[in-house]
Amino acid sequence: MAKVRLEDIKRRFNNVTAIEDITFEIPDGEFWVLVGPSGCGKSTILRTIAGLETATSGKLFIGDELMNNVPARQRDVAMVFQNYALYPHMTVAQNIAFGLQMRKVDQRIVQERVVNVARSLSLEHLLDRKPKQLSGGQQQRVALGRAIAREPQVFLLDEPLSNLDAQLRDDTRAELKQLHQKLGITTVYVTHDQVEAMTLADKIVVLNRGRIQQIGDPQSIYASPANQMVATFLGSPPMNILPAIYKNDGFDVSGQLLAIPASLREKLHLRQGQSFDLGIRPEHIIINTDSALSTQPSALSTQHSALLVVEVKVVEPLGRETLIRAGLPGSTELLNIQVGGDVRLHPGDRISLQLDL
Ligand code: ADP
Repeated sequence: MAKVRLEDIKRRFNNVTAIEDITFEIPDGEFWVLVGPSGCGKSTILRTIAGLETATSGKLFIGDELMNNVPARQRDVAMVFQNYALYPHMTVAQNIAFGLQMRKVDQRIVQERVVNVARSLSLEHLLDRKPKQLSGGQQQRVALGRAIAREPQVFLLDEPLSNLDAQLRDDTRAELKQLHQKLGITTVYVTHDQVEAMTLADKIVVLNRGRIQQIGDPQSIYASPANQMVATFLGSPPMNILPAIYKNDGFDVSGQLLAIPASLREKLHLRQGQSFDLGIRPEHIIINTDSALSTQPSALSTQHSALLVVEVKVVEPLGRETLIRAGLPGSTELLNIQVGGDVRLHPGDRISLQLDL
């Protein structure tokens, strides 16, 4: 096990800069997730750590050792890809053992490790099968097993669950987390899926266009995103972004003036007439069931909330909660509202909302 440190790493391909200013240190044993939209540079960072790419500039350390010029096979890292890349003619046992045999590990130790790894991944009963006799999830577990068997200092996982169907992806995600808790191997995990990032990570690195946007633990990034990209990327359904104007000590949203608490006004330092984007998470919107809001504003808590009238466009019951998409007058944008339980609303209903600002 080892810490991994990147210092001002940059990688250019001809005249395209894939990543730059990449600096972070993963403490020994932590699970970090690199997340961001396709093309943001996640794989390039992972491949640079693996030694499959060479940094144009910057330094990479594994443990205390500078790795820039160390070949991939001497880095003591194991990488798992989304397409498993198992050897089709070998059995599960042979696939798991292969990397160890290449390293000329004693045959008795190889056998022992294969059995232990198979046990920790529930693969014992499949050791004699060939990859094509396995399900996608089982193949992915073998690919993980092959990496674990080597007992690497660092685990590198590139979208390892993206070829699995939804249920299996959830199960395997939980297994991965358990496995990490058990083995404690420093892990770098790449995904474009924000749910995987939120659920798996000790720390998330959010990337966009080759640059780090924010580093932090999932809850603090969710609660205090550094910018609009991070705010809208993490969270499902995504955060609502409403164009607004600061006016008369309130927010003008689509011509409706929202009263805001004085404490918030003081924090924001906005000028009268200033335009800005108001971000509000779907779960921070409460539907005022006492629907004729305009006649009874005093019934609502105006201390911490602003009020907005919208028209219901779509109602999506999701079982435990309901997702409502509603339109602001004069806007084609839809507002996502997430409420617990069932709601008796229909397209065309006008409702008033409390925004928990
Ligand atoms: P991600 O993994 O986030 O989808 P990548 O790291 O694969 O992103 O790619 C980041 C950027 O670098 C993209 O613009 C991609 O087109 C470019 N890139 C990656 N590898 C190469 C390469 N071998 N040659 C040229 N451009 C590349």
